[in-house]
Amino acid sequence: MPSSQSTHSGPVESTEPCFQVTHFVPLTEHMSAVDSPHDRRSFLRTTTRAAMVAACGSALSCSTSDARRTGEVMGPRTAATRGVVLYPFDLTLADWPERARRAGLTTLGLHAARRFDVLRDFIQGKEGRHFLRQCERNDLAVEFELHAMGELLSRELHLKDPTLFRVDEHGNRNPDANCCPSSAAALDIIASKAVEWAHLFRPSTNRYFYWPDDGAQWCRCDRCRDFSASEQALQVENHIVRALRAEDRNAMLAHIAYSHTLPAPRRVTPEPGVFLEFAPIQREYAHSIGERAVPTQASAASPDPKTNGGYLDILAANLQVFGADTAQVLEYWLDVSRFSGWRRPAVKLPWNAAVCRADIATYRAMGLQHITTFATFMDADYVKRHGDLQSVLDAYGAALG
Ligand SMILES: [Zn+2]
Repeated sequence: MPSSQSTHSGPVESTEPCFQVTHFVPLTEHMSAVDSPHDRRSFLRTTTRAAMVAACGSALSCSTSDARRTGEVMGPRTAATRGVVLYPFDLTLADWPERARRAGLTTLGLHAARRFDVLRDFIQGKEGRHFLRQCERNDLAVEFELHAMGELLSRELHLKDPTLFRVDEHGNRNPDANCCPSSAAALDIIASKAVEWAHLFRPSTNRYFYWPDDGAQWCRCDRCRDFSASEQALQVENHIVRALRAEDRNAMLAHIAYSHTLPAPRRVTPEPGVFLEFAPIQREYAHSIGERAVPTQASAASPDPKTNGGYLDILAANLQVFGADTAQVLEYWLDVSRFSGWRRPAVKLPWNAAVCRADIATYRAMGLQHITTFATFMDADYVKRHGDLQSVLDAYGAALG
């Protein structure tokens, strides 16, 4: 499968370089968007941590006690995750939080595949604030799962300092993806921007997800080339989590085992707070992942393994490095976008409850408790085309036990 399709949630609208300038709304400007004193009180009473920090403009050190004074619910930080991951577009199905609660889920993750701007606009807008209030009323945690490197290290900076960026297969400093993890300046910029964006994309679980660019290569410079993609990503993540924890001592950061970062790191050790997220995008869903000999959909050129057994061995090796207690599976059982080839119109989900249950049993036997799945393209248009989806959500919730 071409790299342009080996994404978590499919191709995005634009392939133009990221020239996004981060912008945070100051307190007065943000509050002016609230219509009335009553609305303002309601907003302050019910907003989630993400919206609260965005609104008050406070640093990550906005404390638990601060949150409790405003009536904020912190979310099930230590509870086992039972989640789905959505695009903001999927919230055209406006009652997603109620549906998730009815299915017994704990967590809704919002996804950005390449750029942050659409998700930022959603969170700062009326619909986003309503969504966050509905999540709180339904006792749902909110997280932000982001392909982030292109946003955290502006491609514009290549004109100023090419050494921030990776050396590609032709020996050139290339701003196409990721960074040079041996550049201290690059690491500092990335960590600083991760903290800055966390003021807006603030999870109610303290779990942050700043992934590498989707399916992209890493650095081949003299100082990086002996480190695998997983190890280079972990070098960056270690720097980010230290910066996050300087302002939020409970911060945790995902290391995603996916595409080029599937192999377990050996030469780089995770800092405290870095947890494993395992995303086996190339598996097939007619058989359980526990059936080791079943071929995956990975092409010869794909970094993904060619059998389910390969995925399980990779997961086991990563669990040895990162531990199982905090590890999370990011699955595709409900990923209509994936089953649709990341193209509209959406096909009907080939839901297989037995496979989902067997997969969960396999993951649980390996010690994993945090489980989520993409559910992208499960939106108002999907319901219009294929009928209501609550029975599938309920079955997913039941499979989680
Ligand atoms: Zn390098």
